[in-house]
Amino acid sequence: MTDMLSPGATIGILGGGQLGRMLSVAASRLGFRTHIYEPSANPPAGHVADQVTTAAYDDLTALRAFAASVDVVTYEFENIPAEALDALDAIRPIRPNRRALAVSQDRILEKDFLTGLGLTVAPYAAVQTLDDLHAAITRIGTPAILKTTRLGYDGKGQARLRSPEDATTAHASMMGAPSVLEGFIDFSHEVSVIAARGLDGSVACYDPGENVHKDGILSTTTVPSRLSPSQRTDAVLLAARILNALDYVGVMGVELFVTRQGLIVNEIAPRVHNSGHWTQNGCAVDQFEQHIRAVAGWPLGDGSRHADVVMENLIGDDVLRVPAIARERNAALHLYGKAEARPGRKMGHVNRITRGIA
Ligand code: AMP
Repeated sequence: MTDMLSPGATIGILGGGQLGRMLSVAASRLGFRTHIYEPSANPPAGHVADQVTTAAYDDLTALRAFAASVDVVTYEFENIPAEALDALDAIRPIRPNRRALAVSQDRILEKDFLTGLGLTVAPYAAVQTLDDLHAAITRIGTPAILKTTRLGYDGKGQARLRSPEDATTAHASMMGAPSVLEGFIDFSHEVSVIAARGLDGSVACYDPGENVHKDGILSTTTVPSRLSPSQRTDAVLLAARILNALDYVGVMGVELFVTRQGLIVNEIAPRVHNSGHWTQNGCAVDQFEQHIRAVAGWPLGDGSRHADVVMENLIGDDVLRVPAIARERNAALHLYGKAEARPGRKMGHVNRITRGIA
């Protein structure tokens, strides 16, 4: 593998949140240096990186200097402006590639892409005006969810419609942003596949985890998930199909609804994913190392699961429980170094090993 970066090379990471922080730790374990690019001051990833650039995503001079100082560029979030990417990829490779970013930045492009691969998504329709929304409701029905097409995360930019009468309020809450109406899926549970693809085209998927959300934010991920062997195979194969179609390099999170009719793809995230944090204590090579291996052109590592794990997110005041959690056996704490615990803010997580597998 001639494209393998050698230890000592520098991985550039766009975004300095907890995902960038855990990517940095994984990179440094493999002997790489990291350089974080982040607009806000004192980012969690900055505490564990070799270098930090504090600059905005429209600062082309800073972006070019950042790109010139690294060997490869990766990212921990998908909402990077296209102009920033233009400046970067003229200088260094961006992995995962631009197409993966473009597809996941726009819910309609994403659903069109997934449908084109023969995968099932919720019924959907693009909405701009209130008339569009009425037409979409006539076609899709209620209950339904209206979501902004771009820039949504953790349930933000979403409005639920219980009946057609909710249309006006839901439309107003989008504040004029292009949006998409999605039929409400009556799922029995939610799972996600954390999948990786290397520069050589090899694919490795972690065991699917079962996710529980509270207020639109991931609360817990449990492995093993409640999936039959054939559902597990379907989940892994569909994730691989997505990665191959995008010529993807890196780790991706694929969120799925489990229904009686089969698996429905909710969304894809072209990065390491909160629902993959359990891999830190359940696998020899976790999702963060796997991502660094992939973007550095290394062979993918062994992601097979050696324990049953429940990952619990510590959100806002949940961090007050840290002293008690620190006393628990078989509980691995991962804290993000954020000073202030605001409601809804991800402060850390705990992986509880519920059973070791020989
Ligand atoms: P999202 O930001 O699109 O991942 O949505 C956050 C959460 O809202 C999901 O994980 C689901 O729990 C729920 N949700 C989103 N879209 C739908 C849908 N079409 N049907 C049912 N639940 C949904």
